[in-house]
Amino acid sequence: MAEDFILEMKGITKEFPGVRALDNVDFKVRRGEIHCLVGENGSGKSTLMKILSGFYPHGEYEGTIIFDGQERHFRNIHDSENAGIVTIFQELALIPELTVYENIFLGHEIKKGRFIDWNETIAKSKEILHTLRPDLDPSRKVKDLGVGLQQIVEVAKALSKNVKLLILDEPTSALNEDDSENLLRIIKELKKRGITSILISHKLKEVIEVADTITVLRDGKMVARLEDRSQFTESNIVRYMVGREIEDIY
Ligand code: ADP
Ligand code: MG
Repeated sequence: MAEDFILEMKGITKEFPGVRALDNVDFKVRRGEIHCLVGENGSGKSTLMKILSGFYPHGEYEGTIIFDGQERHFRNIHDSENAGIVTIFQELALIPELTVYENIFLGHEIKKGRFIDWNETIAKSKEILHTLRPDLDPSRKVKDLGVGLQQIVEVAKALSKNVKLLILDEPTSALNEDDSENLLRIIKELKKRGITSILISHKLKEVIEVADTITVLRDGKMVARLEDRSQFTESNIVRYMVGREIEDIY
């Protein structure tokens, strides 16, 4: 059977003044999988995802992106979101003074340039939230929620945009154990619904728990792609992260 990749990034190179953040990186993600991206601080993980989400537009990096069967050049974040890629960055992008409902539906309605049908809005966000966290009251202000629930609002916002590929950049770094578990459970639920996720995390236990494939970056280079669960051990992953040279990656 032909392998079905929702995403192929090829030969990605990105330089900042004095730093080669990404050096000829190939990164492929299968449709429907949970793909974990790991590497030490500064290894280039966030930069790679920022290229994918249009934060660094075409022209500011070298290489090609094939998403969902087509070569794409994302000029900005909206371009990438319109293609079905939603990124939850390390710094949450919610507006604390607004309610959960309002945050979920914010970007959409401005783009459509028409008045908001609040009944429809509420019904839809209720349905999305219910599947994620039935106990969360959507009329609460985001600033009154804990970080764990705020992450869930971010995921709900992504789902309301008909996401095909969800990117989470260190989502659990600020979460306690219960909230982290809950978020991982949601990522697994989304997988059952056919949504592909890329999860960046330095918590190797959770990576090993949820990953179908693990890509390791080191100093801007792709040093390993692990697809076999027998390779998913902390010591193995750490060895790639910190730099034992391996000839036989593929
Ligand atoms: P990671 O997410 O794996 O911790 P990053 O992608 O954030 O790594 O960073 C990769 C490298 O690029 C680091 O050396 C970092 O200092 C550098 N870098 C990232 N963003 C910028 C920027 N906006 N300007 C200059 N250097 C940057
Ligand atoms: Mg980062």
